[in-house]
Amino acid sequence: MPARLIDGKAVAAEVLARVRAAVVRLTAGQRPPPTLATILVGDDAASQIYVRNKRRTCEEVGIGSRSHNLPADVAQSRLLELIGALNAADDVDGILVQLPLPPHIDTTEVIEYIRADKDVDGFHPYNVGRLAQRIPALRPCTPAGVIELLCHTGETFYGRDAVVVGASNHVGRPMALELLLAGATVTVCHRFTRDLAAHVQRAEILVAAVGKPGLIRGDWVRQGATVIDIGISRLADNRLTGDVQFEAASQRAAWITPVPGGVGPMTVAMLMHNTVEAAQRRRAR
Ligand code: NAP
Repeated sequence: MPARLIDGKAVAAEVLARVRAAVVRLTAGQRPPPTLATILVGDDAASQIYVRNKRRTCEEVGIGSRSHNLPADVAQSRLLELIGALNAADDVDGILVQLPLPPHIDTTEVIEYIRADKDVDGFHPYNVGRLAQRIPALRPCTPAGVIELLCHTGETFYGRDAVVVGASNHVGRPMALELLLAGATVTVCHRFTRDLAAHVQRAEILVAAVGKPGLIRGDWVRQGATVIDIGISRLADNRLTGDVQFEAASQRAAWITPVPGGVGPMTVAMLMHNTVEAAQRRRAR
Protein backbone atom coordinates (compact mmCIF):
# COMPACT_ATOMS: atom_id res chain seq x y z
CA MET A 1 0.00 0.00 0.00
CA PRO A 2 1.46 3.43 -0.86
CA ALA A 3 2.60 5.60 2.05
CA ARG A 4 0.38 8.21 3.64
CA LEU A 5 1.52 11.76 2.97
CA ILE A 6 2.54 13.94 5.90
CA ASP A 7 0.95 17.29 5.08
CA GLY A 8 3.43 19.91 6.30
CA LYS A 9 1.19 22.77 5.21
CA ALA A 10 -1.68 21.51 7.38
CA VAL A 11 0.51 20.86 10.44
CA ALA A 12 2.21 24.26 9.99
CA ALA A 13 -1.22 25.90 9.86
CA GLU A 14 -2.04 24.30 13.23
CA VAL A 15 1.22 25.60 14.73
CA LEU A 16 0.53 29.09 13.33
CA ALA A 17 -3.00 29.05 14.78
CA ARG A 18 -1.47 28.35 18.22
CA VAL A 19 1.06 31.15 17.65
CA ARG A 20 -1.73 33.57 16.68
CA ALA A 21 -3.63 32.72 19.86
CA ALA A 22 -0.48 33.25 21.95
CA VAL A 23 0.08 36.64 20.28
CA VAL A 24 -3.47 37.67 21.20
CA ARG A 25 -2.75 36.78 24.84
CA LEU A 26 0.61 38.60 24.81
CA THR A 27 -0.87 41.78 23.34
CA ALA A 28 -3.85 41.97 25.73
CA GLY A 29 -4.13 45.35 27.43
CA GLN A 30 -2.41 47.23 24.60
CA ARG A 31 0.92 45.48 25.19
CA PRO A 32 3.24 45.53 22.17
CA PRO A 33 3.37 42.44 19.94
CA PRO A 34 6.30 40.02 19.98
CA THR A 35 8.73 41.36 17.40
CA LEU A 36 11.17 39.63 15.06
CA ALA A 37 14.07 41.49 13.45
CA THR A 38 15.32 39.90 10.22
CA ILE A 39 18.68 40.72 8.66
CA LEU A 40 19.30 39.95 5.00
CA VAL A 41 22.81 40.49 3.64
CA GLY A 42 23.22 40.77 -0.13
CA ASP A 43 20.84 39.85 -2.93
CA ASP A 44 20.88 36.05 -3.14
CA ALA A 45 17.57 35.20 -4.83
CA ALA A 46 16.72 32.17 -2.66
CA SER A 47 17.53 34.07 0.57
CA GLN A 48 15.33 36.96 -0.56
CA ILE A 49 12.41 34.57 -1.04
CA TYR A 50 12.97 32.89 2.35
CA VAL A 51 13.17 36.24 4.18
CA ARG A 52 10.15 37.67 2.38
CA ASN A 53 8.19 34.56 3.38
CA LYS A 54 9.25 34.92 7.02
CA ARG A 55 8.34 38.62 7.09
CA ARG A 56 4.95 37.89 5.49
CA THR A 57 4.20 35.11 7.97
CA CYS A 58 4.97 37.52 10.85
CA GLU A 59 2.25 39.80 9.52
CA GLU A 60 -0.21 36.92 9.19
CA VAL A 61 0.14 35.87 12.83
CA GLY A 62 0.39 39.37 14.34
CA ILE A 63 4.12 39.29 15.12
CA GLY A 64 5.86 42.64 14.63
CA SER A 65 8.54 42.59 11.95
CA ARG A 66 11.64 44.77 11.60
CA SER A 67 13.52 44.36 8.33
CA HIS A 68 17.18 45.16 7.82
CA ASN A 69 18.68 44.70 4.35
CA LEU A 70 22.44 45.16 4.12
CA PRO A 71 24.62 45.24 0.98
CA ALA A 72 26.61 42.11 0.02
CA ASP A 73 29.91 43.90 0.79
CA VAL A 74 28.87 45.03 4.28
CA ALA A 75 31.75 44.95 6.79
CA GLN A 76 31.66 42.34 9.56
CA SER A 77 31.92 45.19 12.10
CA ARG A 78 28.81 46.92 10.67
CA LEU A 79 26.80 43.69 10.83
CA LEU A 80 27.90 43.07 14.43
CA GLU A 81 27.04 46.67 15.31
CA LEU A 82 23.48 46.15 14.01
CA ILE A 83 23.13 42.88 15.93
CA GLY A 84 24.44 44.62 19.05
CA ALA A 85 21.76 47.31 18.72
CA LEU A 86 19.04 44.67 18.24
CA ASN A 87 20.40 42.69 21.20
CA ALA A 88 19.94 45.80 23.34
CA ALA A 89 16.56 46.88 21.90
CA ASP A 90 13.79 46.23 24.40
CA ASP A 91 11.17 46.07 21.65
CA VAL A 92 12.91 43.25 19.75
CA ASP A 93 12.27 39.68 20.94
CA GLY A 94 13.91 37.66 18.18
CA ILE A 95 16.82 38.20 15.78
CA LEU A 96 17.24 36.21 12.60
CA VAL A 97 20.25 36.55 10.30
CA GLN A 98 19.46 34.83 7.02
CA LEU A 99 22.12 32.28 6.03
CA PRO A 100 24.27 31.74 4.06
CA LEU A 101 26.27 34.94 4.55
CA PRO A 102 28.80 36.19 1.96
CA PRO A 103 32.19 34.44 2.20
CA HIS A 104 34.00 37.44 3.76
CA ILE A 105 31.70 37.29 6.79
CA ASP A 106 32.59 35.04 9.74
CA THR A 107 29.26 33.24 10.23
CA THR A 108 30.28 31.62 13.52
CA GLU A 109 31.10 35.01 15.06
CA VAL A 110 27.78 36.43 13.82
CA ILE A 111 25.72 33.59 15.30
CA GLU A 112 27.57 33.77 18.61
CA TYR A 113 27.02 37.55 18.75
CA ILE A 114 23.24 37.19 18.80
CA ARG A 115 21.89 37.16 22.36
CA ALA A 116 21.03 33.53 23.11
CA ASP A 117 17.58 34.49 24.41
CA LYS A 118 16.83 36.27 21.11
CA ASP A 119 18.33 33.53 18.92
CA VAL A 120 15.03 32.36 17.42
CA ASP A 121 16.81 30.25 14.76
CA GLY A 122 18.21 28.20 17.67
CA PHE A 123 21.71 28.13 16.13
CA HIS A 124 23.66 29.74 19.02
CA PRO A 125 25.97 27.25 20.76
CA TYR A 126 24.10 27.97 24.00
CA ASN A 127 20.79 26.82 22.51
CA VAL A 128 22.32 23.78 20.76
CA GLY A 129 24.12 22.95 24.02
CA ARG A 130 20.86 23.16 25.98
CA LEU A 131 19.31 20.72 23.50
CA ALA A 132 22.31 18.38 23.86
CA GLN A 133 21.91 18.49 27.65
CA ARG A 134 18.17 17.68 27.52
CA ILE A 135 17.16 21.11 28.79
CA PRO A 136 16.09 22.74 25.50
CA ALA A 137 15.57 26.49 25.32
CA LEU A 138 15.11 27.93 21.81
CA ARG A 139 15.23 24.89 19.51
CA PRO A 140 16.60 24.90 15.95
CA CYS A 141 13.51 25.42 13.79
CA THR A 142 13.75 22.72 11.12
CA PRO A 143 14.49 19.79 13.49
CA ALA A 144 11.82 21.01 15.92
CA GLY A 145 9.39 21.15 12.99
CA VAL A 146 10.27 17.57 12.04
CA ILE A 147 9.45 16.41 15.58
CA GLU A 148 6.04 18.15 15.26
CA LEU A 149 5.44 16.29 11.99
CA LEU A 150 6.45 12.96 13.52
CA CYS A 151 4.16 13.52 16.52
CA HIS A 152 1.36 14.29 14.09
CA THR A 153 1.67 10.79 12.56
CA GLY A 154 1.31 9.28 16.04
CA GLU A 155 4.96 8.19 15.91
CA THR A 156 6.36 6.69 19.09
CA PHE A 157 10.04 7.36 19.62
CA TYR A 158 11.18 5.20 22.55
CA GLY A 159 13.72 2.66 21.38
CA ARG A 160 12.90 3.18 17.70
CA ASP A 161 15.76 3.04 15.19
CA ALA A 162 16.14 6.55 13.77
CA VAL A 163 18.68 7.33 11.06
CA VAL A 164 19.59 10.91 10.15
CA VAL A 165 21.45 11.33 6.85
CA GLY A 166 23.36 14.63 6.93
CA ALA A 167 25.29 16.07 9.85
CA SER A 168 25.36 19.85 9.37
CA ASN A 169 25.43 22.14 12.40
CA HIS A 170 22.05 23.68 11.61
CA VAL A 171 20.04 20.67 10.45
CA GLY A 172 21.47 17.14 10.76
CA ARG A 173 23.18 17.44 14.15
CA PRO A 174 20.33 19.16 16.03
CA MET A 175 17.93 16.72 14.32
CA ALA A 176 19.86 13.84 15.85
CA LEU A 177 19.76 15.58 19.26
CA GLU A 178 15.98 16.06 19.00
CA LEU A 179 15.43 12.37 18.17
CA LEU A 180 17.75 11.33 21.01
CA LEU A 181 15.85 13.60 23.40
CA ALA A 182 12.61 11.98 22.22
CA GLY A 183 13.96 8.53 23.12
CA ALA A 184 14.98 7.07 19.75
CA THR A 185 18.18 5.10 19.09
CA VAL A 186 19.93 7.45 16.70
CA THR A 187 22.48 6.92 13.94
CA VAL A 188 23.93 9.89 12.06
CA CYS A 189 25.28 9.34 8.52
CA HIS A 190 27.53 11.78 6.69
CA ARG A 191 29.92 12.06 3.78
CA PHE A 192 32.31 9.45 5.22
CA THR A 193 29.68 6.89 6.19
CA ARG A 194 30.42 3.47 4.73
CA ASP A 195 27.43 1.58 3.32
CA LEU A 196 24.74 4.25 3.60
CA ALA A 197 22.21 1.75 2.20
CA ALA A 198 22.66 -0.61 5.17
CA HIS A 199 21.94 2.20 7.65
CA VAL A 200 18.89 3.40 5.72
CA GLN A 201 17.52 -0.15 5.49
CA ARG A 202 17.49 -0.36 9.33
CA ALA A 203 15.67 2.93 9.86
CA GLU A 204 12.18 2.91 11.33
CA ILE A 205 12.39 6.71 11.26
CA LEU A 206 14.48 8.07 8.37
CA VAL A 207 15.38 11.76 8.13
CA ALA A 208 17.30 12.93 5.06
CA ALA A 209 19.07 16.31 5.23
CA VAL A 210 21.76 16.40 2.56
CA GLY A 211 20.67 18.37 -0.50
CA LYS A 212 21.49 15.69 -3.13
CA PRO A 213 18.46 14.73 -5.22
CA GLY A 214 17.69 11.01 -5.13
CA LEU A 215 20.66 10.14 -2.87
CA ILE A 216 18.38 7.85 -0.86
CA ARG A 217 17.11 5.12 -3.14
CA GLY A 218 13.48 4.17 -2.69
CA ASP A 219 14.25 0.45 -2.52
CA TRP A 220 16.54 1.05 0.49
CA VAL A 221 13.59 2.28 2.59
CA ARG A 222 12.46 -0.15 5.27
CA GLN A 223 8.93 -1.51 4.87
CA GLY A 224 6.61 0.57 7.10
CA ALA A 225 9.20 3.29 7.85
CA THR A 226 8.40 6.94 8.42
CA VAL A 227 10.38 9.03 5.94
CA ILE A 228 11.08 12.73 6.45
CA ASP A 229 12.81 14.46 3.57
CA ILE A 230 14.35 17.79 4.60
CA GLY A 231 16.48 18.13 1.45
CA ILE A 232 15.45 20.72 -1.12
CA SER A 233 17.15 20.98 -4.49
CA ARG A 234 16.06 22.70 -7.68
CA LEU A 235 16.22 20.55 -10.80
CA ALA A 236 17.16 21.79 -14.28
CA ASP A 237 13.45 21.97 -15.18
CA ASN A 238 12.94 24.26 -12.13
CA ARG A 239 11.04 21.65 -10.07
CA LEU A 240 11.93 21.25 -6.38
CA THR A 241 12.95 17.81 -5.19
CA GLY A 242 14.19 16.11 -2.03
CA ASP A 243 16.98 13.66 -1.19
CA VAL A 244 14.72 10.59 -1.28
CA GLN A 245 13.44 8.91 -4.46
CA PHE A 246 9.85 9.75 -3.64
CA GLU A 247 7.84 7.40 -5.88
CA ALA A 248 9.77 4.24 -5.01
CA ALA A 249 10.05 5.15 -1.32
CA SER A 250 6.28 5.72 -1.18
CA GLN A 251 5.72 2.08 -2.13
CA ARG A 252 7.54 0.92 1.02
CA ALA A 253 7.11 3.64 3.69
CA ALA A 254 4.08 3.97 5.95
CA TRP A 255 4.41 7.78 6.06
CA ILE A 256 6.40 10.17 3.88
CA THR A 257 6.79 13.92 3.49
CA PRO A 258 6.42 15.46 0.03
CA VAL A 259 8.90 18.03 -1.31
CA PRO A 260 7.71 20.75 -1.47
CA GLY A 261 4.91 20.91 1.11
CA GLY A 262 6.51 18.73 3.80
CA VAL A 263 9.20 20.10 6.08
CA GLY A 264 9.53 23.53 4.41
CA PRO A 265 6.35 25.12 5.86
CA MET A 266 7.26 23.77 9.32
CA THR A 267 10.55 25.69 9.45
CA VAL A 268 8.80 29.06 9.15
CA ALA A 269 6.03 28.00 11.55
CA MET A 270 8.60 27.00 14.20
CA LEU A 271 10.40 30.32 13.73
CA MET A 272 7.14 32.09 14.62
CA HIS A 273 6.70 29.71 17.56
CA ASN A 274 10.23 30.51 18.79
CA THR A 275 9.64 34.27 18.49
CA VAL A 276 6.57 34.02 20.70
CA GLU A 277 8.43 31.78 23.13
CA ALA A 278 11.33 34.25 23.29
CA ALA A 279 8.86 37.08 24.01
CA GLN A 280 7.07 35.05 26.69
CA ARG A 281 10.35 34.20 28.44
CA ARG A 282 11.61 37.80 28.34
CA ARG A 283 8.33 39.21 29.62
CA ALA A 284 8.14 36.66 32.43
CA ARG A 285 11.40 37.96 33.90
P1 NAP B 1 24.83 21.19 4.33
O1 NAP B 1 25.33 22.14 5.33
O2 NAP B 1 25.38 21.18 2.94
O3 NAP B 1 25.02 19.73 4.95
C1 NAP B 1 24.81 18.57 4.20
C2 NAP B 1 25.19 17.37 5.02
O4 NAP B 1 25.04 16.22 4.19
C3 NAP B 1 26.63 17.39 5.53
O5 NAP B 1 26.63 16.97 6.88
C4 NAP B 1 27.33 16.35 4.64
O6 NAP B 1 28.32 15.61 5.30
C5 NAP B 1 26.21 15.40 4.33
N1 NAP B 1 26.48 14.67 3.10
C6 NAP B 1 26.97 15.11 1.92
N2 NAP B 1 27.07 14.10 1.04
C7 NAP B 1 26.62 13.00 1.68
C8 NAP B 1 26.51 11.65 1.29
N3 NAP B 1 26.83 11.23 0.07
N4 NAP B 1 26.05 10.75 2.21
C9 NAP B 1 25.69 11.17 3.44
N5 NAP B 1 25.78 12.44 3.86
C10 NAP B 1 26.26 13.35 2.98
O7 NAP B 1 23.25 21.33 4.14
P2 NAP B 1 22.13 21.69 5.25
O8 NAP B 1 22.10 23.13 5.54
O9 NAP B 1 22.22 20.73 6.37
O10 NAP B 1 20.82 21.35 4.41
C11 NAP B 1 20.58 20.05 3.93
C12 NAP B 1 19.42 20.09 2.94
O11 NAP B 1 18.25 20.49 3.66
C13 NAP B 1 19.57 21.09 1.80
O12 NAP B 1 18.93 20.58 0.65
C14 NAP B 1 18.80 22.30 2.29
O13 NAP B 1 18.32 23.09 1.23
C15 NAP B 1 17.68 21.62 3.02
N6 NAP B 1 17.05 22.43 4.08
C16 NAP B 1 15.70 22.47 4.07
C17 NAP B 1 15.03 23.17 5.06
C18 NAP B 1 13.56 23.17 5.05
O14 NAP B 1 12.97 24.00 5.70
N7 NAP B 1 12.92 22.22 4.37
C19 NAP B 1 15.74 23.86 6.04
C20 NAP B 1 17.14 23.78 6.04
C21 NAP B 1 17.78 23.05 5.05
P3 NAP B 1 29.68 16.23 5.92
O15 NAP B 1 29.23 16.83 7.23
O16 NAP B 1 30.55 15.07 6.10
O17 NAP B 1 30.13 17.25 4.91
